[in-house]
Amino acid sequence: MTSFIQYDEKSDFSIHNIPFGVAVFNKEYIACATRIGDLVVDLASLYDYSFFDDIEGLNENIFEAYTLNDFIELGKPVTSAVRKRLQELFTEGSALSHDEKTIEACFYDLDKVEMLMPIHIQNYTDFYSSIEHATNVGKMFRDPANALLPNWKHLPVGYHGRASSIVVSGINFHRPKGQMKPADATQPIFGPSQQLDFELEMAFVVNKNTELGESISVKEAEDAIFGMVLFNDWSARDIQSWEYVPLGPFLGKNFCSSISPWIVTLEALEPFRTVSPKQDPEVLDYLKFEGDKNFDIQLEVYLQPENGKENLISKSNYNFMYWNMSQQLAHHTVNGCNVEVGDLYASGTISGAEASSFGSMLELTWRGQNPIQLNDGTERKFINDHDTVIMRGYGEKNGIRVGFGEVSSKVLPAK
Ligand code: MN
Repeated sequence: MTSFIQYDEKSDFSIHNIPFGVAVFNKEYIACATRIGDLVVDLASLYDYSFFDDIEGLNENIFEAYTLNDFIELGKPVTSAVRKRLQELFTEGSALSHDEKTIEACFYDLDKVEMLMPIHIQNYTDFYSSIEHATNVGKMFRDPANALLPNWKHLPVGYHGRASSIVVSGINFHRPKGQMKPADATQPIFGPSQQLDFELEMAFVVNKNTELGESISVKEAEDAIFGMVLFNDWSARDIQSWEYVPLGPFLGKNFCSSISPWIVTLEALEPFRTVSPKQDPEVLDYLKFEGDKNFDIQLEVYLQPENGKENLISKSNYNFMYWNMSQQLAHHTVNGCNVEVGDLYASGTISGAEASSFGSMLELTWRGQNPIQLNDGTERKFINDHDTVIMRGYGEKNGIRVGFGEVSSKVLPAK
């Protein structure tokens, strides 16, 4: 597949990708969009030019919208057909390739475009599905000899997070304030978090509504997943470690999480499907799965001080996940919990076995014991004010590259 649109061979947005997002074009007009190379394509105008007329189930200009929810809800038969049509249109020699009028009207350079939150997130859940991450945290906070709690290998542990504070890449946020109890103090104190951290995660978006009482099986799960984004689940470790007993994460977690603006479809990730880790002990029947359910997506975290250079501080991979997306969704709904279009389900911090692949500052610096040296000579135990954290992710195999671009956000001083 070769496109008539020129792009770098290292572009995340090759013709094999065709992600979906929502863009402001020329600072005045909002519509659903896709991207190829460094061009953003206005799908609402492409619809008006009749390029989707014969796609069954696409009966109105659903791209004239501020979110992708209505499009996603049409389900895979329609969303896959649209993606395939876009791939055909972008291919060398297509009808579109000779149609200068449409290209002029629908294709925009990156600098003419601002990306918005691609979906209205109805509900957000965060899992805890990387065995290396769960083991590291268990070692640090509990018992090195029994780092994993007894339930961990029997179910994908998770909690309900907060949807209102999830923002798109480029939105900066203020350092959270809260209550914490320093190790040497007898009473809690109040102030700006001193242990602000990122969590390297990926998240998937659900494309359907289910009824209360209904479950989605492992087998059905991938049909219910539209696509994925990069996810930075910002965390305040000092607030978290004081507040979390006995009910779990709360204000140390819900002040901000950031997502990448382009939703990459599961179809686009197909070339990177890979074998899942063997689960031992054997899981209960409702969590059993067949086939390759993991995805080989290389992940990178960069820390950039104000006016400084980017520092690569972690290299991880989504294929490290012990629990896969299908198991997560099956487990989430096995009790009859209903899901909604636009729900976001995050993986939990993705750490590998090597110290260089840990997905949080908590692990990279081992709770501040081993600070990271940056290329400007400064060091970090956690994230400072005015630091920007950038996460990037991509699959690359047999000359095919499909990526997520980045999720980037800067920490502003506490208000
Ligand atoms: Mn998290």
